[in-house]
Amino acid sequence: MTYTIPVELTSSPKPKPAHHNQAFGTVFTDHMFILDYDAEQGWHDPRIVPYQPIQLDPAAKVFHYGQTVFEGLKAYLTEDRRILMFRPNKNIERLNLSNRRLSIPDLDEELVLEALKQIVLVDRDWIPSEPGTSLYIRPFVIATEPVLGVAPSLQYKFMIILSVVGSYYAEGINPVGIYVEPKYVRAVVGGVGNAKTAGNYAAGLKAQDEATAKGYSQVLWLDGVHRKYIEEVGSMNVFFKLGDTVVTPALNGSILDGVTRSSVIQLLQHWGIPVEERAISIDEIIEAHRSGTLVEAFGTGTAAVISPIGSLEWQDEKLVIGQGVTGELSSRVYDAITGIQRGILEDPFGWVIELPLADAAKHS
Ligand SMILES: *Cc1c(COP(=O)(O)O)cnc(C)c1O
Repeated sequence: MTYTIPVELTSSPKPKPAHHNQAFGTVFTDHMFILDYDAEQGWHDPRIVPYQPIQLDPAAKVFHYGQTVFEGLKAYLTEDRRILMFRPNKNIERLNLSNRRLSIPDLDEELVLEALKQIVLVDRDWIPSEPGTSLYIRPFVIATEPVLGVAPSLQYKFMIILSVVGSYYAEGINPVGIYVEPKYVRAVVGGVGNAKTAGNYAAGLKAQDEATAKGYSQVLWLDGVHRKYIEEVGSMNVFFKLGDTVVTPALNGSILDGVTRSSVIQLLQHWGIPVEERAISIDEIIEAHRSGTLVEAFGTGTAAVISPIGSLEWQDEKLVIGQGVTGELSSRVYDAITGIQRGILEDPFGWVIELPLADAAKHS
């Protein structure tokens, strides 16, 4: 099935940034994608229009009850000017998993993929080409029905906006200091921790603020029941290298099933490195540090790909990991994934899709 998505081009294109040292998510492109939902028509009226503010009734349910989900993925420009996207189908699948958890009607996955491709092609001149830069793609759904009753909305908007992002590691990959959070929790099993929904991030701001004030860059979240098992680091999944084995928390229902997480696991398996998805207690990590088997730790997510952890602060004890420098495995994984994303390395997993530039001509 092919979809025709009408395009209204902007009559006043914005100047593109000359440098890419801007803060994450501050520079947006010229266009956006919109799709509407109401109970009578279902999802309807897909369109690409100039990037612009949207008008919503103050009673729109999203403002009051947080019925909303989002995704995050990237498009890259290769040295030979091909446009690549990294595993968009994983994001689209997860978007619908989040939708189901938030009682939002399923989106047509083929239409979403087509929308992702078309909006990126329409704004293809915005994709930066310097090493480390990319076009960040933010699909999201909001509940728009103007009714204050607590019930699933009967109206929604699905939108895709695009943001030019600079290199996460303009100054090189430097391991970060992490505060193991003793007081606040991010999510609990049975809640919405495994959905990419706004409330999880609002709930995490306080802990992040307090950790920042103490001089740490992120928090390490422990589970909400036992306050013992490791869940995520900031809004990233987390991996530890213990001896020769890599461990990461199992998908227990309260953590997010990261696309980067799944890619790292697949890559490690491909390399013959033992990897375990299981419950990991903070005590196990402290013990591994004491006995010298905690070799490396890193977070994974679309924005940074790999974020090495240089130290963990837990109950007034500071555990320095790998002398505080980026570990060998962290670097190897980072180079492999970013190499595949940018079309520099062979992609044995079929992760990358190339956008056919020929299709772009239709719109001009
Ligand atoms: C988005 C996200 C991740 C990382 O997922 P990726 O698909 O790898 O970007 C991890 N944890 C949380 C809470 C997230 O929101």
